Amino acid sequence: MALIIQKFGGTSMGSIEKIRRVAAKVIKEKLNRNDVVVVVSAMGGETSKLLDLASKMGGCRNDMETDLIISSGEQVSSGLLSLALKSEGYDAIPLLGHQVKITTDEFYGKARISSIDVKNIYRMIKQGKIVIIAGFQGINSGGFITTLGRGGSDTTAVAAAAAINADRCDIYTDVDGVYTADPSIVSDAKRLDVVYFDEMIEMSSLGAKVLQIRSVEFAMKYKVNLFVKSTFLESKGTQIKFLGDEEDMEELQVSSVACDKDEAKISIRGIPDKPGIAAKIFSKISDINIVVDMIIQNISVEGHTDLTFTVSKKDLQKAIEIASDIARDLNAKDVISDDKIAKISVIGVGMRNHHGTASMMFESLAKESINIMMISTSEIKISCVIEAKYAELATRVLHDVFNLGETDNKRDECK
Ligand code: ASP
Ligand code: MG
Repeated sequence: MALIIQKFGGTSMGSIEKIRRVAAKVIKEKLNRNDVVVVVSAMGGETSKLLDLASKMGGCRNDMETDLIISSGEQVSSGLLSLALKSEGYDAIPLLGHQVKITTDEFYGKARISSIDVKNIYRMIKQGKIVIIAGFQGINSGGFITTLGRGGSDTTAVAAAAAINADRCDIYTDVDGVYTADPSIVSDAKRLDVVYFDEMIEMSSLGAKVLQIRSVEFAMKYKVNLFVKSTFLESKGTQIKFLGDEEDMEELQVSSVACDKDEAKISIRGIPDKPGIAAKIFSKISDINIVVDMIIQNISVEGHTDLTFTVSKKDLQKAIEIASDIARDLNAKDVISDDKIAKISVIGVGMRNHHGTASMMFESLAKESINIMMISTSEIKISCVIEAKYAELATRVLHDVFNLGETDNKRDECK
């Protein structure tokens, strides 16, 4: 008998019929004599609809009213799943964030969980109930509802798994695991049996939409036994795990290709090349809570340089305004921007033991006449910014050149 968290995403909860199928998945674990705590997302598309309503009334992403409104999607879906389970004769209880007592910090729209009171959950499990937790929400110190950022139910699930010391946390979604690339772009993309935490963190931040990055960080910190599985298919799914000593890292150079079209780039041209300028620019940008991803600074010509950086598309307008103010202050030449870019990345812990990954990536892009505008690297990933129109082509080419396809992927053999 094990204690299991099952988390079901918006697509899995997308209709009455689908919620019945979710109920069947929950019942299956009960029949295996396991205790189950379920975390649910809102029915697919609901959160976006609610956000739209809030914004039409003047709400923004970080006010209390918007969080109150958008948290209601999970209230509905948790109630529906409870009814579905009861109609099958199982005792279930739906709980909202404040009923569990999931406390968070004060940041509406992207709150962080600070604690989860497990007493209620344990008591109800002891009574034989299936506990259903509405994901994505908590309460702050003032007792007001907060939400955890888009995709935040993943974080609720992982945090609950850590808090109740669950044996497993299964994240159910509409794909049957983590893939070597987006299967809608690459036809022979392959499900990976295993992805390492370091890779999953990179994948989540580089455009793979499977897990919210915070949930992966949380799982890594608290050593949660984490799986991504399919609600609709019988499949082993993908285990996210720590790299052990027994792993043979010589086998695989790159394990996946990710593509992110959500960023835009801004260049401030002709700025004086003096100490303190970059600090001034980026502190002003971070003051308004904009996250900068890649940065490049050109070589200085006659005491002046160009600085280019990327931000999320949703922050582009604000970032341009700030950059233009700074440019004026510094007497820079001008500010230009481009939102038709894509960031293409290759990821793999095996890169630590291989050389030549970067050159292989650059050569493959060059062969297709794809120009690289920016490059950034870490120990286990290389990212290039390219024109958005080449995103799919670049994904396919790199998937191919690093042999990630259905027939030639070796990750299954190096468990
Ligand atoms: N319903 C929220 C969203 O759409 C949270 C989640 O699905 O994880 O972002
Ligand atoms: Mg999700």
